Amino acid sequence: MEIRKDRVVTIDYSLSDDIGKIIDSSEGSEPLVYLHGNDNIIPGLERELEGKIPGESITCSILPADAYGDRNESLVFKVNKKDFGDNVEVDAGMQFEAHGEDGTLIVTVVNVNGEEVTLDANHPLAGETLHFDVKVIDVREATPEELEHGHAHGEDEDECGDDCCCEDGFCD
Ligand code: ZN
Repeated sequence: MEIRKDRVVTIDYSLSDDIGKIIDSSEGSEPLVYLHGNDNIIPGLERELEGKIPGESITCSILPADAYGDRNESLVFKVNKKDFGDNVEVDAGMQFEAHGEDGTLIVTVVNVNGEEVTLDANHPLAGETLHFDVKVIDVREATPEELEHGHAHGEDEDECGDDCCCEDGFCD
């Protein structure tokens, strides 16, 4: 069965940056399972995977426009350390999630200078060209529930019960 919209796809993948450093990989953990054609993975990778079948491997480079977008310097801003609350350690390199109208953002602490904390709300991979090695493991039809939720469900049927990310509007 080939990969196309509304099918659930299982892949092993390795993601590296321009200098060949591995950023993320399914090796040593579970393969990635996603619902194709539903914005579950970056558009450039979906396009490369379209029509592929289990057993096929692809190597591709995805430009920022088809991955996590270009960096937006207006998303770098300063806040006061006390905004984090008392007794909270804030160090450069820390990342946390911020929930907003557009869903969940990953915010990175760039610098701490006394009481002044510089934050960057760009996606950590914004502006990066991404290099993928992907092997297709499995392709199957999605269940009606998966199509309704817009994402793949795991082996465990209860996984997407009351805690489904869709319930609070932060579906990714
Ligand atoms: Zn669900």
